Amino acid sequence: MHSPILKVQNLHTWFETPTGTARAVDGVNFELYQGETLAIVGESGSGKSITALSLMQLVPEPAGYIEKGSIFYKNRDLLDLTWEEMRALRGKDIAMIFQEPMTSLNPVLTVEKQIVEAMQVHGTATGAEARKRAVDMLNKVGIRSPQQVVRQFPHELSGGMRQRVMIAIALSNNPQILLADEPTTALDVTVQAQILDLLASLQKELGMSMLLITHDLGIVARVAQRCCVMYAGQIVEEAPTSELLKNPQHPYTRGLLASLPSRARRGQELYTLEGVVPPPTRWPKGCRFALRCPNRMDICKNVLPGETALSPQRRVSCHLYNSDSAEAAVPLENPS
Ligand code: SF4
Repeated sequence: MHSPILKVQNLHTWFETPTGTARAVDGVNFELYQGETLAIVGESGSGKSITALSLMQLVPEPAGYIEKGSIFYKNRDLLDLTWEEMRALRGKDIAMIFQEPMTSLNPVLTVEKQIVEAMQVHGTATGAEARKRAVDMLNKVGIRSPQQVVRQFPHELSGGMRQRVMIAIALSNNPQILLADEPTTALDVTVQAQILDLLASLQKELGMSMLLITHDLGIVARVAQRCCVMYAGQIVEEAPTSELLKNPQHPYTRGLLASLPSRARRGQELYTLEGVVPPPTRWPKGCRFALRCPNRMDICKNVLPGETALSPQRRVSCHLYNSDSAEAAVPLENPS
């Protein structure tokens, strides 16, 4: 594989809270390659959205801060950039879309004004050219009457249309990387599928890379070539999506997959992953999944598992795969 367009190393993003330091992102590593979609999947509270916000340096301050790590974009560490340099890059090289468009769309500006502003800020187009591009962008994201929609305000549009407008704004400067944080969670199932197909086709057409943050393995299967599974502030498994879905290795990934409805298990009761992600102010000393893990061993309670490379493209953090553990040979059964 060629060199990555984005390389995240040992990223730690912490928050100071009244109950202590919340280590929301706690040693995350991954690489994103040109033209691919990489998904970060996990339950709420796993740290996946904070990871995306850290890449944009949009972690809410002063409570939140990047404690340590590196975020290399085209071989430059974004954490070394000045505020001005980062502002110039945000929205131009790396753009982001969110779950709820109303939180990022300005309710008092027309759609045209918002797309035009996104281009003007970065000087990629101004005046009549920017206005024409606003209409072109709406066309590109599948809005049927762009000439009319461009004059409307966000509240006049449906949820799906607003999401398309947000995608148009995000893509208006031809970014190299799109961060999509739960981009379809607030939409109904049919619109969800349309937006996912749109993102996949735009990504191919524009050749950009996409980092997709989601809790939904169905979405991962639909659009991502590779997948990182995040749990309690760390990535516990990484694999090409097809391999991960066929042959999950980490007990948490197995539990997530077994709790999905499938044709093969029709009529059977769904597996339930018991318990919740522990609070980030009190990560357990050993494996953070130990309290919920059906395969836990004595070592799991006290020792945080390191990463084991299963192949050049697969890694897992679990004592079951650590050859130093005496119990490593225990075969894993799917919990379904
Ligand atoms: Fe389960 Fe132990 Fe692996 Fe953690 S390290 S996932 S507790 S087997």
